[in-house]
Amino acid sequence: MAAVKHILVIGGGAVGLCTAHYLRASGCDVTIVERGVIGEGSSMHNAGLVVPSHFVPLAAPGMVMLGLRWMLRPESPFYIKPRLDSDLLTWLWRFALASTAGRTGRAILLLRDMSIASLALYEGLASVRGLEFEFRKNGLLMLFRTGHGREGSLKAAGQASRIGIEASVLDRDGLHELEPGVNFNATGGVYYPGDAHLTPALFVESLREYLIAEGVRFVGSTRVTGFVTRPLGITAVTTTGGTYAADEFVLAGGAWSPLIVRSLRLQIPMQPGKGYSVTVRNPPVRPRIPMLLEEARVALTPMGDGLRFSGTMELAGLDSSVNMGRVRALLKSVPSYLGGLEPVQLEHGEIWAGLRPCTPDGLPFIGRFRKYDNLIAATGHAMVGMSLAPITGKLVAEIVHGRIPSIDLHLLRPDRYG
Ligand SMILES: Cc1cc2nc3c(=O)[nH]c(=O)nc-3n(C[C@H](O)[C@H](O)[C@H](O)COP(=O)(O)OP(=O)(O)OC[C@H]3O[C@@H](n4cnc5c(N)ncnc54)[C@H](O)[C@@H]3O)c2cc1C
Repeated sequence: MAAVKHILVIGGGAVGLCTAHYLRASGCDVTIVERGVIGEGSSMHNAGLVVPSHFVPLAAPGMVMLGLRWMLRPESPFYIKPRLDSDLLTWLWRFALASTAGRTGRAILLLRDMSIASLALYEGLASVRGLEFEFRKNGLLMLFRTGHGREGSLKAAGQASRIGIEASVLDRDGLHELEPGVNFNATGGVYYPGDAHLTPALFVESLREYLIAEGVRFVGSTRVTGFVTRPLGITAVTTTGGTYAADEFVLAGGAWSPLIVRSLRLQIPMQPGKGYSVTVRNPPVRPRIPMLLEEARVALTPMGDGLRFSGTMELAGLDSSVNMGRVRALLKSVPSYLGGLEPVQLEHGEIWAGLRPCTPDGLPFIGRFRKYDNLIAATGHAMVGMSLAPITGKLVAEIVHGRIPSIDLHLLRPDRYG
């Protein structure tokens, strides 16, 4: 019988937890080392959307021009903090290079396959006794209000249909039929029935409890500070709480991943993409279906007795401070799509800022590093880390056991920039 492998997962976000789950389920001995508390990175207060409809990576044709236009408007959904930072400049250059039709086309098919596989895994997880995270497969409504927004939404719907993602275009009557309790100011929308949503804090907490019961060890409030290496491999991590040895190591540190492996001189270019969420309890409007506001790039997700508003993408380094001006701008856009939601009242909700781990080509890093073959990357999921967490965990388990991965990992190689 093969010896049981001991795997140490760095980072206790959605990706680290899902990785621990599939590793444990496949017979590994698993320890998670987390700098703070489980989920405190980006995985507790995000929009909770599980979205095969988000198949276009951040780096896509037109995004560079759109980004430049947005940068000139202080209330726009995208902002780059001006600074002379060579990592940021290199990242932006690589982003521009990745935004070609050919590269985006390949990324689209991969993201589609990954998110469809992940959604199926979520359905499986939702049926596990003890795991309850308000998983609902109610679809997603993309709302638009201008001719330009309509054009963009219809183009995306056409692209979705061509790659097998169901999408139907709705006028205002169609929106009312789907959500009779909501007063729409949007002129129309696109409905993606295959999408789902969940409550991320419940997902993270219940998966943590479940994994503890399954024998996964959690080492909290402990930061990984370095690595003990051997030729072509790692033998242990050093942490603020001592040294931990293992057979294999998984890097699931979200936006902090490049910092964690800096001493190993590994090139995993990433920029933290700050976003905000505002959660309002007992809101005056209670949609059943999550919505995305096309022009404003704001998401609305029903969660338990609340409604969560999320959005903005700010490249401002590893800084999760809240800029109230940008939070207000996010909320200000809502009434032009939906009636009954006054921004001033919404501001009293719970405000959170999180950092998305953004790679230049919009694809995560998943796979073994060439230089250290027992270190596996599972990071860089940008805007779709919740969506892709289960499939990432499953792929890592396949890698650890030397199985043929269920998704082709070529475009996800962690060494693709180094
Ligand atoms: C406003 C907003 C809305 C979003 N909405 C969605 C959505 O609807 N759907 C979707 O799919 N995605 C969404 N995302 C993206 C998603 O939240 C992230 O992609 C995902 O949470 C990343 O998970 P992760 O496990 O890789 O990283 P994280 O959750 O950030 O976890 C990384 C963990 O590593 C720990 N860590 C860092 N350094 C160390 C160290 N040295 N030692 C030990 N531990 C360390 C951190 O404390 C953290 O807990 C959203 C993000 C934001 C900001």
